[in-house]
Amino acid sequence: MRCFLKLRHPPEHPSKGGGALFVRFWGTRGSIPVPGGRTAKYGGNTACVEVRTDDGTIIVLDCGTGARGLGDHLLRSAPQPLRVHLFIGHTHWDHIQGFPFFGPAFHPNTELNIYAHSGFHRRMEDAMAGQMQYSYFPVRLHDLRSRIHFTELDEGFFRIGEALVQTQHLNHTAPTLAFRISSHETTLAYVTDHEPYWKPTAKGFHHPGDQRHVTFLEGADLVIHDAQYSDEEYAGKIGWGHSTVEYATDVALAAGSSRLALFHHDPAHDDATVARLEAIARERAAASGRALEVFAAAEALELHVRGSEPSVALGNVTAIRRPPVAGKRVLVVSSSEAEIAVIGHLLAADNLVFLPTSDKRTALECAPDVAPDLAIIDGRLSDGLGVELVQPLRARLDRPDLPIILLANEATLQSDFGVSSAPDTDCLAKPFSTPMLRTRVLAWLTRALRPGKDGADETISPGIPKPAPPATAPGADAARADGGTAAGYADTLATMPLFRSLDREGVLRLVSRASEQVFTAGHVVIRQGESAQYVFVVVSGLVRVVQSTFESPLVGQVLAEIGYGEVFGELSMLTDQPRTATVIAVEHTRCLVLAPDDFMHVLQRSPDLAIGLLRILAWRLTNADRLLARYAPDPLTGLPGRRAFHDQYQRLAAGPRRRQSGVILLLLDVVHLNEINDRFGYMVGDEVLRAVAEALRRAIRSTDLAARYGGDEFAALLVDAGPANTEVVVNRVHDKLAELAVQRGLPVMVQCAVGVSSSQDPPATADELLWEADEDIRCK
Ligand SMILES: [Zn+2]
Ligand SMILES: [Zn+2]
Repeated sequence: MRCFLKLRHPPEHPSKGGGALFVRFWGTRGSIPVPGGRTAKYGGNTACVEVRTDDGTIIVLDCGTGARGLGDHLLRSAPQPLRVHLFIGHTHWDHIQGFPFFGPAFHPNTELNIYAHSGFHRRMEDAMAGQMQYSYFPVRLHDLRSRIHFTELDEGFFRIGEALVQTQHLNHTAPTLAFRISSHETTLAYVTDHEPYWKPTAKGFHHPGDQRHVTFLEGADLVIHDAQYSDEEYAGKIGWGHSTVEYATDVALAAGSSRLALFHHDPAHDDATVARLEAIARERAAASGRALEVFAAAEALELHVRGSEPSVALGNVTAIRRPPVAGKRVLVVSSSEAEIAVIGHLLAADNLVFLPTSDKRTALECAPDVAPDLAIIDGRLSDGLGVELVQPLRARLDRPDLPIILLANEATLQSDFGVSSAPDTDCLAKPFSTPMLRTRVLAWLTRALRPGKDGADETISPGIPKPAPPATAPGADAARADGGTAAGYADTLATMPLFRSLDREGVLRLVSRASEQVFTAGHVVIRQGESAQYVFVVVSGLVRVVQSTFESPLVGQVLAEIGYGEVFGELSMLTDQPRTATVIAVEHTRCLVLAPDDFMHVLQRSPDLAIGLLRILAWRLTNADRLLARYAPDPLTGLPGRRAFHDQYQRLAAGPRRRQSGVILLLLDVVHLNEINDRFGYMVGDEVLRAVAEALRRAIRSTDLAARYGGDEFAALLVDAGPANTEVVVNRVHDKLAELAVQRGLPVMVQCAVGVSSSQDPPATADELLWEADEDIRCK
């Protein structure tokens, strides 16, 4: 039997083995806080819910403005040191705005574990830090005194103490996760910022997305569900990413849940309106004849939830490893040029490879060559219905599970697509919300890539054409290893010192699932923080390993340069951790990309290869230590200092000298820095220096070099550039500086005197160019 109690406080003495969950609502509102008498009953604060398990684990769901009250409460009453697990469904304002006011974050005694999806290709940490920039808030994320750990999530499961947490993508205008938390026999689902995939009919849910949604909620003892609108209101809000009370009730009924909390109340709804919506939902539940208790979530409402059925695991895929989607290939079939253009822009924003085709016939013809990871098909094509392409396309590619998103007119949606769609077919009604399409593309790509799918390891499964190699992005060409090419790859490897000791069988095993990638100069091959474990072998060209800084992921400390016959990417394979550094192609570079388990397999059987790899690692470690000590970046701006500039100049200038492609050197003097310090204080002076450093970073390419050369002096070396580029670069620096001064709310105009020198045949040291640039400043 399940019981439902209202308690004033969390249980003092947790009962053993029951797995009850204590829940308190601190914020129930969506979009924006609406304090005042008209919302006193259900509350004006935005989303924040406290959950405690029997073993004392504290979980906080979202960090809207309700988090301020919760933070104070935790500091007053929870046992110290405080350990909090904060789940953020997505980083829209109403779900994170309370974070800068969450007291425990300021306390050195607090351990704060933050879990969230990374959103649109930004890191989650950046999204959280964004709202704490100086223009918005006086304390920066990195200056908070608590110990903060970020964990990026995707669909799957993870555990916190005794609690099993499962996640699933919702249908919203940004990548958004639902959380299902189970402790022993009790399960709670927190499902907010979600729109129905299709409007259900009397016969049930027809869209595979809604069916998946119901399955996710199945058997939950409490469902906290987005219920922002009534059915009538929803007609004008399609594509905004929210549910109706009717839909929330229907899914809770279909999932056999016992209780439903209507959540994410619309800011326009006063208490009377929320109560009216609650009544509609209750009537609907009663009419179904099933026992579903419905209530509108209210601020300060406390619940003690206890279930009677053991929690079930919905899958065996970890939520914590995020496969990168950049470089995945999306086939777009549409006869409308305008639609093709819009989708092309969306895909480019996530570094996806865009493969447009205009009709069914062309799509079928080119599909095997372009090997898509996902297809987006318009419902009406010039040579027939889009739905008629679904089966033939999968058959032609021999991929019955190829994810496909169909686009159709609302009016003809159901008749066009029928109700018997396969689970990997998705439909989106036109006119669609573009962020919603982008969100679905990302959800499908990560779902299709996740490890363990179909029992296969990583992303590669036998019988299914290999997905595009990792990190392929526009500008990189990829080829696959099959038949003859595999033998060719084996020959290439066999001549390299590291692999020379392997027998033919070993080399063939190494390349059995290898692919080849070609990168143009300046291309990012792997990105720090990405979770991928492929190992790269340089066949020709040169790459640079860069330790990114938080402020500027692409410009950082150069740790090493790697050329012919050397490997990179091996650390992630060995440690099972995300990439520790960014790797950028310095020149046109060809690599062989090896599957990590093939590499491990061969490594385990070859002591020579293992020792060779150890040598490389030991050498890199020594070198990196030496470099880091020598080049410790300027603590104020994060840029390399004077000595590092001179050293790196020598290496950077070598390429342009060989290629006769020239360099430009910029010298920047911050005008009136002393006066600024005198009048506004050093805090502002420092901020001016940081702004100049950042402007310089943004104005140059990742293969160039910027340094803080002296107190108020900065230097930048631009490779493969000549006098013709000077004006563009100098203007860009001034533009970025003006932009940053405004963005960062500097109380003073920042000006720099810029001197330029250039050379087609760069001298061996930077001295001459620096002197000329300095003269150039003086003459102005
Ligand atoms: Zn929201
Ligand atoms: Zn939202």
